[in-house]
Amino acid sequence: MDLALPVEGLERYHSRSQMARVATEAWAAANLFCVNCDSPRLESSPAGTRALDYFCPRCDDPFQLKSQSMPFGQRVLDSAYSAMMAAIASDRAPHFVLLHYAREAWSVMDLLLIPRFAIPKSAIEKRKPLSSKARRAGWVGCNIVLSHIPEDARLSIVRDGVIERASVVRRRFERIRPLAELKAEERGWTLDVLTAVRGLNREQFSLDDIYSREPELAALHPANRHVRDKIRQQLQVLRDKGLVEFLGRGQYWLRGGA
Ligand SMILES: [Zn+2]
Repeated sequence: MDLALPVEGLERYHSRSQMARVATEAWAAANLFCVNCDSPRLESSPAGTRALDYFCPRCDDPFQLKSQSMPFGQRVLDSAYSAMMAAIASDRAPHFVLLHYAREAWSVMDLLLIPRFAIPKSAIEKRKPLSSKARRAGWVGCNIVLSHIPEDARLSIVRDGVIERASVVRRRFERIRPLAELKAEERGWTLDVLTAVRGLNREQFSLDDIYSREPELAALHPANRHVRDKIRQQLQVLRDKGLVEFLGRGQYWLRGGA
């Protein structure tokens, strides 16, 4: 992986944002690899399938690139709210590849992969509809709220200009891959409980510890009145998927660091 963004042919473009789009897309086509299998490269999607930027030539998994010149904050701008919610509900979301590049150095600083099955609906924030003066008046976009995605599923490929080995990224992906087996409508709760458990910042925790997160989980799922039951049920799901271990006497162990 070479962190320098390619500059060939960019003089044809006048706007900085257009140059950045062309350069980051070319960079991704040359440098991204698959996490779901051992393919060392991805292919660009044919023109006209804009929503899916890349796919794996070996396992066919879809990837979508989002580039920005600002470091990642809480939120990443995504496209249409309804399309994103429908994609999550029907398990058709792509893996998201978030790229932060340095404007002056023209090189990749951070690259984060969010697996396609690791985005709960609770992480999708509706934006205000575009004003009546806009070309697409009334159109509703969304943000992806990174803090609502379990830390386990925010896979760093480049951090502060330092490249992580592909084998390490794939191993971290492998650890959470069992979550992909869950039904899409059930998985949101599982991810939210995993985020809450991670938020405790300790490997061993008790049922009371995780019950302390009840208000925030209730806020994410206002229609559910049995949040504690749901927490216990999801701890079992996380155990079955190898992420949490039951120690007995209401004590749990979060397996494997992020
Ligand atoms: Zn693959």
